[in-house]
Amino acid sequence: ITSWAHIPQGQPDAILGITDAYKKDTHPKKMNLGVGAYRDDNGKPYVLNAVRKAEQKIIQNKLDKEYLPITGLPAFTQEAALLAYGKDSEPLQEGLIAVTQSISGTGALRIGGVFLNRFYPYQKKIYFPTPTWGNHGAVFKDSGFEIAQYRYFDKTTNGLDFEGFMEDIRNAPKNSIFLLHACAHNPTGVDPTSQQWDQISKLIKERGHFPFFDMAYQGFASGDIDRDAYAVRKFVSDGHRIALSQSFAKNMGLYGERAGAFSLITENPKEKAAVDSQLRLVIRPMYSNPPVNGARIASYVLSDPELYKEWQLMRKKLKHHLVEDFESKLPWNHITDQIGMFCYTGLKPEQVERLTHDYHVYLTKDGRISIAGISSSNVKYLAEAIHEVSK
Ligand code: PLP
Repeated sequence: ITSWAHIPQGQPDAILGITDAYKKDTHPKKMNLGVGAYRDDNGKPYVLNAVRKAEQKIIQNKLDKEYLPITGLPAFTQEAALLAYGKDSEPLQEGLIAVTQSISGTGALRIGGVFLNRFYPYQKKIYFPTPTWGNHGAVFKDSGFEIAQYRYFDKTTNGLDFEGFMEDIRNAPKNSIFLLHACAHNPTGVDPTSQQWDQISKLIKERGHFPFFDMAYQGFASGDIDRDAYAVRKFVSDGHRIALSQSFAKNMGLYGERAGAFSLITENPKEKAAVDSQLRLVIRPMYSNPPVNGARIASYVLSDPELYKEWQLMRKKLKHHLVEDFESKLPWNHITDQIGMFCYTGLKPEQVERLTHDYHVYLTKDGRISIAGISSSNVKYLAEAIHEVSK
């Protein structure tokens, strides 16, 4: 009989494990600031109205449940590419963007990782910002990559270490792969300005590096879809042939539906056809084809002008409620200077531990809080708790 006794206990996931601990806590004031997800004023999960309406339409239309093609629902992938690259994008107009549906943002990164590991002609090493989203390392390690880091967050200013970032781009061996957070950097909430992006694009091009954008929060940084796509579109118009991972988990609140897309810009139709064919060969043995429901919802929302408008408006209102209302309550400037769904408080691990133990506030050890988990009814409690542990 085969024994599994040699298997060591694995570490719980740093982010998802927090939700488990939160669920077990029975304290009435408990707060979960670990996972970024829309919450209403009572801390309950919130589904956007535009999404509810799209679901109704899908039911009314009595759609079937047939398999999707390997690369997903074309109506969805076209809309996703349009959302990211914009209608004026040259490679989009010329039909040179290879795009596939993915199991949300994580799946898009993984498809990109496997594809690049198979076909990237230079060193299989990827540079991440310090810090970065907790799952990046595992996704790319499991795709066969060596991991390296570039400087990003400056602890002394709680802002961007732009000089360090540029120096690390300059010093990395030519043709290195750089993973860039397109907007609303997770976990720090610190993004380069558009002028800084211009310089980053220029230097990355000079060095022949390959930019892999992770865009998990389009619309969340500025509240404006197009403004948040600035870096992606600037790189493309500067002539980079980027890779891009997109997620609809956060900006549409479709978390569990797992709607996302991976795309790669190619040089000509022949190259695009070859890339498309290889993406299918990457995906088919992994999960055959993607789930249909979330892609349908997203494509309905994105292609129906009325639902699209409602989606935009609701996000702006939510952002205003979550971020603007919050502004007056906490004493630290960097919290309001940072953007997006997350905020890097600068709290130390032992202070985080006290927050959880004494105040039942759950967050990742690095001091990151999800703004979406705060509401007008608990913001004061949180402010007090943070104040107490950081005195
Ligand atoms: N990339 C970043 C930077 C993220 O923060 C997340 C989610 O937290 C993801 C990718 C992937 O999310 P999902 O797989 O739920 O789309």
